[in-house]
Amino acid sequence: MKRLMMLGPPGAGKGTQAQQLAVELNIPQISTGDLLRAAKKNQTDLGKKAAPHMDNGKLVPDDLVIGMVVERLKEEDAEQGYIFDGFPRTLKQAESLEEMGVSLDNVISIIVSDEEVHRRLEARRTCSECKAIYHLIFSPPKSENTCDKCGAEGSIYQRADDTPEKIEERLRAYKAQTEPLIAFYQEKGRLIQIDGEGAPEEVKKRIQKAL
Ligand code: AMP
Repeated sequence: MKRLMMLGPPGAGKGTQAQQLAVELNIPQISTGDLLRAAKKNQTDLGKKAAPHMDNGKLVPDDLVIGMVVERLKEEDAEQGYIFDGFPRTLKQAESLEEMGVSLDNVISIIVSDEEVHRRLEARRTCSECKAIYHLIFSPPKSENTCDKCGAEGSIYQRADDTPEKIEERLRAYKAQTEPLIAFYQEKGRLIQIDGEGAPEEVKKRIQKAL
């Protein structure tokens, strides 16, 4: 049973690294961003409530996110452990996990500069089907419209919140609301700090070494 969490600003590489770790450790990646985008697309009650916050680059209210995660953890595949990607994102969310008796084994805090965040996110593309992540310059899909990973056609898109203004807003939210979690988990002795600059492959090696 391994419970891990990826912590870091938008564009730190949390999703990229979590996807690979999940395969290696054979546990699911639980991305609250992906779950919320799916809820929004399917126009569920949760999706409708979350949408205005997401569209503005702000965090979705804690009670909505926590309720969604509680439901997700009841699924069978979470019994053997999981990797949280983008959760918890506030002290309230972290505390509610502790209250549920969920104690994370390791929190992997990925550090990158604001400039690097902009450089990465403005050129990021995502597959709506399998969530594969591309960068137009450093790791473009072989064909503009087909996902290399799952073969879906016309599935590669730019996230609506990957524009310069929304990226600024998300960075502000990260610094004000999420960054305090670094000290929170450091005090608990569960924090691993990783330099997130460089190629995904190099960052992956640093994480493997640290784990
Ligand atoms: P992400 O894919 O992790 O960048 O998340 C995209 C958006 O979903 C964020 O900008 C927030 O609006 C929302 N979101 C994702 N995870 C959380 C969370 N743990 N708490 C609050 N809002 C979240």
